[in-house]
Amino acid sequence: MNALIRDNISAMNGYVPGEQPKEVKVVKLNTNESPYPPSPKVAEAITKIVATDRLRKYPDPLGSEFRHSAARVLNVPAENIIIGNGSDDILTIITRAAVGEGGTIVSPTPSYILYKTLADIQGANFVQVPFSNSWELPDPWPHPEAQLTFVPNPNSPSGTVVSLKSLRKLAQQLTGLLVIDEAYVDFAKESALSLLDLPNVVITRTMSKSYGLAGLRFGFGIADGELISQFQKVKDSYNCDVLSIAGATAAIEDQQYLQRTIQSINQTKIRLSKEMIELGFDVTPSETNFVWCRRSDIPLKPIYEELKALGILVRYMRYDGYGDGLRVSVGTDEEIDYFVSHLKHVMGRELVQQR
Ligand SMILES: *Cc1c(COP(=O)(O)O)cnc(C)c1O
Repeated sequence: MNALIRDNISAMNGYVPGEQPKEVKVVKLNTNESPYPPSPKVAEAITKIVATDRLRKYPDPLGSEFRHSAARVLNVPAENIIIGNGSDDILTIITRAAVGEGGTIVSPTPSYILYKTLADIQGANFVQVPFSNSWELPDPWPHPEAQLTFVPNPNSPSGTVVSLKSLRKLAQQLTGLLVIDEAYVDFAKESALSLLDLPNVVITRTMSKSYGLAGLRFGFGIADGELISQFQKVKDSYNCDVLSIAGATAAIEDQQYLQRTIQSINQTKIRLSKEMIELGFDVTPSETNFVWCRRSDIPLKPIYEELKALGILVRYMRYDGYGDGLRVSVGTDEEIDYFVSHLKHVMGRELVQQR
């Protein structure tokens, strides 16, 4: 233990994000980035800022420009939106505002592992509630007393969704906040925005996945205006910079471009799912830009490793009490063809070894 650091920090494992290789030749299907560039309007907006003397001054702390654009697109009041340096920043702000040391944070499992890191930093207890076999939430919910409950919807790594009806039921049972993490909602059939009539619901969104802006770092939260003003007290004053606010605003304004991107990704996803099923994987129907692939006849870790050696990165994930799987992000059609043809070779070798 390090005497200079709080015990819970010394004791915890830090969050380990998916690998970000330096080599450009890697086919990267491991962290659910968009395979397509962002709207060209993003570069235009950023270039315009750089050409003025705007960088010399501090950014707008509340990101009013972005809030107004997002409010118009989502049909919610601008006062109900908070901006963040990625949606992970929003998740951190909410946690710091709602949960003290010794408090409780709950999330279903298997799901996004950052929630545990947030609990560890806070010195809070972290409780995991298993999803049912068909990826539903238990009802009644076993931990209504938690200060904070995170539900990613659609979920990662499964790509599945729970119904708005069961989310509403959950929110009504909870005495604390329910955060619905909608990082992948643009690929899904419906969003939980209609649940914002409930005073304890917060929805988080990111520009990292569907908008192709993971490198820009921009996310936002939507909730009751009173909750949002409490969250504003917790965030860094200037958590988003001038360039990211301008870029994110241009991106959310270009809904036509977003819809085209989503359509391409959803089409490629259908093809990828079919190929994986033909190769003998159990593929969970996905409302995201990735597919969750499992099988029990051969070990999956060596497949992940062999693909990696060939310059193809997918995400190998294993959860206590559940097992493992490969999470494959939907790339371009060319990337998916390349991935599938190499996977066929790897699988051939693995299946021979097995006999
Ligand atoms: C990617 C992801 C995020 C974080 O997105 P950033 O905006 O890049 O911080 C949050 N939640 C889930 C479930 C994600 O998959």
